[in-house]
Amino acid sequence: MKYTSIMVRFGELSTKGKNKKDFIRMLADNIRHALKEYPELTYDVLYDHIYVNLNDLDYEPIVNILKDISGIQALSLVVKIASDIEVIKNTALELIKQEKGRTFKVTCKRGNKRFPIVSDDIIRMVAPVILKNTNLKVDVHQPDIKLSIEVRDEGTYVFTKTILASGGYPIGVAGKVMMMLSGGIDSPVASYLLMKRGVILECIHFASPPYTSEAVIDKLKDILKQLNKFQYSIKLHIVPFTKIQTKIYEVSDESYAITIMRRMMYRLAEKLADKHKCLAVANGESIGQVASQTLDSMRVIEEVVKIPVIRPVCVLDKLEIIKIAKQIKTYEISIRPFEDCCTIFAPKNPKTKPRLHEVEFFEKKFDYESLIDEAIANVNTITIS
Ligand code: ATP
Ligand code: MG
Repeated sequence: MKYTSIMVRFGELSTKGKNKKDFIRMLADNIRHALKEYPELTYDVLYDHIYVNLNDLDYEPIVNILKDISGIQALSLVVKIASDIEVIKNTALELIKQEKGRTFKVTCKRGNKRFPIVSDDIIRMVAPVILKNTNLKVDVHQPDIKLSIEVRDEGTYVFTKTILASGGYPIGVAGKVMMMLSGGIDSPVASYLLMKRGVILECIHFASPPYTSEAVIDKLKDILKQLNKFQYSIKLHIVPFTKIQTKIYEVSDESYAITIMRRMMYRLAEKLADKHKCLAVANGESIGQVASQTLDSMRVIEEVVKIPVIRPVCVLDKLEIIKIAKQIKTYEISIRPFEDCCTIFAPKNPKTKPRLHEVEFFEKKFDYESLIDEAIANVNTITIS
């Protein structure tokens, strides 16, 4: 028996009360966009589910795309039929015959109150048909197969298969964040985790040509193309960083260069975040991963900004981050060799416990404010979609 539609379930969304309508509209937009290559599909956007009607298309590629869309809790493969008890019985039997297992349970919801048979009676009429025509036994506690029947105004849906999806909130419901994207493994994972919470990202990258090459930008574009699966259009702001960086190495002790460089990055990220109405900045820092990511360093670095700084992967170790990177298919791109501005100027003995007054001493030696303004004025923005 062919499935006619995919029932999209929201889960977490259901608790959001009066914002629910907006959430559903946003999710429906995201779904339509992700499936734009399939013009044959039609959609029913209802208050408690969205139905993607297959119109004879194969369900598998569609399910694979839907599984990654943030805000979808689960997907059920359904057969839509007329609300007629004989048709319901036959469909239930045919569907359950396709399943493997020894026990089953029938559940029923009757949204259409004009349908003359109440849920319990529908179950009492359907279950005997299955018992009589198969070897299956009833188990109401731990059935191998759950057969669900939903009688709604527009028809009746029967299904046995439910697939878990990515959960989270629809992209767009939580506002915008400016993500510091380096081309390494961590920041794409941090990006994905934020998108799953419904956050829209804009990305900022600090480029130091000629020390860093154009190949880094190509790499970032490839990473963002993978992330387009979760957010269909992503802005990448490329900030010219060479002048600031060379100046830092002129004025500061080598062991403080990374701390100061990261303070400059934070200042730039905050400026750009404000300019583009982002409510926070984010990055791929993980506690203790390198010298600039000790809590002592973070304290001295974050001190330069007012805006919240979100570190989605701060508690994950590298192996956990790599696992997610592989799952979202950014890992292979991230490990391509490249020259990052951090690796090129990497000092031999970076401070793990930088002192604020020392940092300030070095920073006073140059007019970084005007260099920051100049860099912001020369940002090159591209959109990946
Ligand atoms: P990643 O694997 O994401 O590059 P990392 O382990 O290499 O992280 P660092 O290079 O120390 O860590 O950088 C920490 C974070 O700072 C990165 O995850 C990223 O968010 C940000 N960052 C570092 N370099 C840049 C850059 N050139 N442009 C934008 N953000 C950067
Ligand atoms: Mg890096």
